[in-house]
Amino acid sequence: MANTKSSGKKEVLASKSCGDKNCPFHGSLSLRGISFIGTVISTNMHKTATVEWSRWLSIPKYERYEKRRTKIHAHNPTCINAEVGDMVEIKECRPLSKTKNFVIVKKLGKEKLFKEKLEAREEAKVKKEKEPEKKESKKEEKGEQ
Ligand SMILES: [Zn+2]
Repeated sequence: MANTKSSGKKEVLASKSCGDKNCPFHGSLSLRGISFIGTVISTNMHKTATVEWSRWLSIPKYERYEKRRTKIHAHNPTCINAEVGDMVEIKECRPLSKTKNFVIVKKLGKEKLFKEKLEAREEAKVKKEKEPEKKESKKEEKGEQ
């Protein structure tokens, strides 16, 4: 290996070189700005991952907090190859496409209870979908009368 002289991180990353020009380690992409830590919830798009994390927003009127979710599209280089359920660190870069301004720089391992979280969310969705149906049926009944 030619890059054995380079230090720590670079050595590890250089060993799995990828041909991606938008890779922050093997390509020419430079990083700047803000960084976040989130969980990958989808990798269906080509070399792209949807990263999500939640934060607490204070509501001064009620002296309570509500949970808000942030969802961001991030570039997923081949050498990192993050999968659904992975905790990742993302950093800001130049716009790579219409919706991608971030790139994954590090995998931080699997998120615990990720499956349970998704299942709970899907159950909540089903409940929400059922409620409007009932309302619609009531309206129809009224209209018929
Ligand atoms: Zn790479």
